[in-house]
Amino acid sequence: MVDVEDTHLTRTRFAPSPTGMLHVGAVRTALFAWLIARQNNGDFILRLEDTDKKREVAGADEHIMRTLHAVGLGYDEGPDIDGDYGPYRQSERLDIYKQWAQKLIDDGRAYADPYTAADLQDLREQAQQQKKPFLYRNHRPENPPKWDGSTPLRFKSDPKSYKWKDTVMGELATGPEVIDDFILIKSDGYPTYNFAHIVDDYLMKVSHIVRGQEFIASVPNYMNLYEALALEVPTMATLPPILGPDGKKKLSKRDGARDMLDYLRQGFLPEALLSFIATLGWNDGTEQELFSVDELMSKFSLNHVGRGGAVFDERRLQWVNGSFIRQMDLDTLYEQAQKFLPPEAQSFDEAYNKAVVGALQERLKYFAELPELTQFFYTDLPIDPSLLSEHKKLKKYDQSDLVDLLNTARTALTAVVFDVDPLQRELNQLLESTGEKPAVLFSLVRIATTQAPASPGLAETMAILGKERTLQRIDNQINALKA
Ligand code: GLU
Repeated sequence: MVDVEDTHLTRTRFAPSPTGMLHVGAVRTALFAWLIARQNNGDFILRLEDTDKKREVAGADEHIMRTLHAVGLGYDEGPDIDGDYGPYRQSERLDIYKQWAQKLIDDGRAYADPYTAADLQDLREQAQQQKKPFLYRNHRPENPPKWDGSTPLRFKSDPKSYKWKDTVMGELATGPEVIDDFILIKSDGYPTYNFAHIVDDYLMKVSHIVRGQEFIASVPNYMNLYEALALEVPTMATLPPILGPDGKKKLSKRDGARDMLDYLRQGFLPEALLSFIATLGWNDGTEQELFSVDELMSKFSLNHVGRGGAVFDERRLQWVNGSFIRQMDLDTLYEQAQKFLPPEAQSFDEAYNKAVVGALQERLKYFAELPELTQFFYTDLPIDPSLLSEHKKLKKYDQSDLVDLLNTARTALTAVVFDVDPLQRELNQLLESTGEKPAVLFSLVRIATTQAPASPGLAETMAILGKERTLQRIDNQINALKA
């Protein structure tokens, strides 16, 4: 549980900018904020920070909402869910920011920025030549024009040192040199993130800010603004970066920072995704790697989020998802998996399809693998000679030996009831009678009956295929070997 130091209601927010799809980093921020709210019977808010019109992507807002609903991170207030503190799109709150900006102007804490881009470029170059850091506050105009909205409105900062506690990053301290005059309202009339989020978090009664690394350097400036506005600073938690598989660079699209909905479309389970994402930077202090949502709810704590980067490994995600698949009962598994079966499955009855899915449960990593892994249950695949000729053990056998082995197996199987147990017993007896190893005999029969490089257990596979098709396929293989 998070230690809530005050008696305020816990209210957290996820505040994405609609500039594209939601990837793993953003969903982790949302998940942690959501968990804190849920653990404390608080509220979780979605606020769309659509103040950068140049970077906005059409449809991204819908996409964000769809993703949160799809992974199970429901929010209590947001653009599509009424609440007492709306609107929840920043573009609909411009008047509010103007009022707060006016307050700062009236207090002498904001000024119209008179400089053109070219002026600023000159000033920057001058600073560079003098080997001094460039600071806006060194160039405050003496008599700034009255702000009419046509130029940026800049905060007049009050440089000083800060010490603060970030729930994840610990005690932090900075000197006055990092404090500078930043833009509050741009010349297009939209506020900056730096200004708008402070106003909104206050008005929306946000108690905890959970966000990514990219903002931590600006926190001293935010504190300066909180002071100027006489606002209490919410609890802040800065999450560690998510790193690509090399453990060095930030995760990029190239490393697999994919749209979260893609994973759902591929048949990853929402609960597995949340478990995996929660453990990007967090653990409960034990070796446990898989967490149900209920467990996350009871065990998650920002105090156990590490400060170092968390490595994103897609193979680990697949393992986590596979583990969740194995924990499912067959009815639930089938219900979720059936739409991923190949189209041919429609001509088979539900009992058959369910048995196929059940047979794959042990090896499935995500549902989109189903068409490939189940192909041979639905169609007679053409004989693939390379399965035998490239098989580690079988390639050493003469074709006629393989034919003999298959004939022996065929004869024995003819007399068996095609259920898993009798089939397994018969297969074991065949090992004894032929003196072959499973890696030879079972591989051979498996290849003959599936024409696939891998399958579920042989007895189970044959039981599902049934006697007629199994024997027919063995015959086909024998004929191909003899041809
Ligand atoms: N709009 C910011 C972003 O999308 C949100 C940062 C925050 O959570 O305060 O990066």
